[in-house]
Amino acid sequence: MIMTWNPDFEIAALLLTVVFNVFYWTQRRLPLYQNHFFSRILGIEVGVILSDLVASYVSSEGMNYSVLVQNVANTVYFGLLAFLIVEFYFYTVSLTGISGHIPKALKIILQIPFLLMEVFILSSPVSGMVFTIDPVDGYRRGWGYLTIFAFVCIYIVLSVVFITRFRKNVALGQLISIYTFSLIVFMGAFLQIVFFPYVLMTNGCSALAIAIIYLSLQNPDFYNNNMTGLFNTDAFTEIAKEKISQNKKFSCFGIVMDRYATARKIYGKEHLDLCMTEIADYLKKLNPEFLTFYFHEGCFVILDPAGKDFSASGIKIQKRFDQPWKLENGEIYFHICTVLWPAEIARDNAAELMDGLQMAMDEAAEAGGSHINISQELIERMRYDGKVESALNQALENDSLEVYFQPIYSNSQGRISAAEALARLSDPELGFISPEVFIPKAEQNGSIMQLGRQIFEKTCSFIHDHSLDELKIDYIEINLSPIQCLQEQLAEELTEIASKYGVSMNRVNLEITETATTDAGAIRENMKQLLEYGTTFSLDDYGTGFSNLINILKLPLHIVKIDKSIVWSYFNGAGDILPHVIQMFKNQHLEIVAEGVESQKMADELAHMGCDYEQGFYFSRPIPEKEFLEYVRKMNS
Ligand code: C2E
Ligand code: CA
Ligand code: CA
Repeated sequence: MIMTWNPDFEIAALLLTVVFNVFYWTQRRLPLYQNHFFSRILGIEVGVILSDLVASYVSSEGMNYSVLVQNVANTVYFGLLAFLIVEFYFYTVSLTGISGHIPKALKIILQIPFLLMEVFILSSPVSGMVFTIDPVDGYRRGWGYLTIFAFVCIYIVLSVVFITRFRKNVALGQLISIYTFSLIVFMGAFLQIVFFPYVLMTNGCSALAIAIIYLSLQNPDFYNNNMTGLFNTDAFTEIAKEKISQNKKFSCFGIVMDRYATARKIYGKEHLDLCMTEIADYLKKLNPEFLTFYFHEGCFVILDPAGKDFSASGIKIQKRFDQPWKLENGEIYFHICTVLWPAEIARDNAAELMDGLQMAMDEAAEAGGSHINISQELIERMRYDGKVESALNQALENDSLEVYFQPIYSNSQGRISAAEALARLSDPELGFISPEVFIPKAEQNGSIMQLGRQIFEKTCSFIHDHSLDELKIDYIEINLSPIQCLQEQLAEELTEIASKYGVSMNRVNLEITETATTDAGAIRENMKQLLEYGTTFSLDDYGTGFSNLINILKLPLHIVKIDKSIVWSYFNGAGDILPHVIQMFKNQHLEIVAEGVESQKMADELAHMGCDYEQGFYFSRPIPEKEFLEYVRKMNS
């Protein structure tokens, strides 16, 4: 076979494209727009290459084929090529995730060049615009051949513009491969049309672009969980992102194996993995419409694109779990907790959906295996939580947490003799956030160390700026989180900060809670070092924990703060252990602070019962520095 055109690139391209087609079509794919367009690219590319080979062949052998055959072959080839280019463009746009948001009018306008091009191509046998078939010489480039090049340029430029404008929606690595494949498609057209008219390289380059896309963006393996053969969490994120951005309704159903970790310890990872695969197979077959995901250890999620409420499937699944699952040498029962995210409950974004499902599944598992329907309230709570977390991070970063002081009254001295430093966080959007909310958050996410340091530093700065002697204040109490107490360098860190402000550590009393005393080793070492610097310690919130009293009494404590709940239950007649508690600690020669003192009656009676100090709204709420100074000057004058 003699051909005017060199088909070597073309044949290699065909093989490559066929291989990618086989790989792609034999794996499970997500119903995503980008997959839709990519599968079209794969199919059309095969068509383009085959038609190009045919067209080149019949054109080379011009005399053996009629003008009609040559016209048809070339029309098909050019027609498909234009399709391929426009599909590359659609594919790129789909990657930005904005396909659903382009106004209809704009969409139509953007397709005009393509429609025009197809008209030029289809009319070429008559107009001779893109190509022309000479009865003697065969195929010739038409007078308007370069419009093809212009057409390729238009769509490559559009792709690049879209992807650059919405680059925030794609990861950097993806962005690089998108630019690379766009450039390669462009080069293919440029080289063949402008430089090497007799080497068929456009399709070689398109095949190369397909290879890049397949390997870096479209490999179905990215979205599969290898163990179970279900989709993975990345797949869930992708599909959720797309559905949310298109305002499509869908519902999700989470299934968690209760006590998965324990089962894994008993049966071993390998056996349990096999069991998870068995469960995965069952869930996969439940309904062909469902998309099934394996989140992580013993945690499955099913997505129903139809947005139904899983009432029937839920019962079916529950029934199946009443039966055992096979193990290699035996069987195992799993108790499951389930979570439904109904279609009506809106979600802002994929991350929120993931977090919400995860949080509800954790909560369901903690609650010992029930069913949770995700409600608007749970989502609001989660959103509030997220906002608190970012407000806290922001405040820590800007060092903008405030310290308020709550005066502590000494019964024996008849004056305010101390104060407790309390952290305050306010946010422009959320307003005042209670420490009851942000302190546990800081403990969970690890920022409590930084928070503790900042509050300690601000308190030292206060002590440095105002003579405590003049105020007749003996010391300031500062709260330590149990997590801080575990830290080995705590003593060193605190003394360093104090010395930076020239503050003596005996001006500081540190409040620790019962929880901190459960790891007595770590706390004891820190206490020992700090005691040497003159710091004293209070046990905070006595009565809220369940610690062993003997262990507590072994610690070098000076003061016990009796929690407001015990105080209040005494005064509202719900319990009368308060006098006994006071007596017990007095016998141990510990000083006592009563918390939550809200009335004069309480104050008088607590003094009578032998409390050394009192703290509560009756004296003052926690107040900012300036107010605190005024208050103390007035009270202690
Ligand atoms: P806490 O250490 O028990 O602090 C006393 C809490 O009781 C304060 O709440 C205070 O406003 C409140 N309170 C005091 N007297 C009364 C009263 O008469 N009636 C009522 N209803 N409440 C009273 P606040 O400031 O909301 O702090 C809550 C908790 O947050 C604190 O409880 C403490 O555990 C934690 N916290 C606050 N600041 C810090 C800090 O800097 N570090 C650490 N680790 N925890 C802190
Ligand atoms: Ca406290
Ligand atoms: Ca307390």
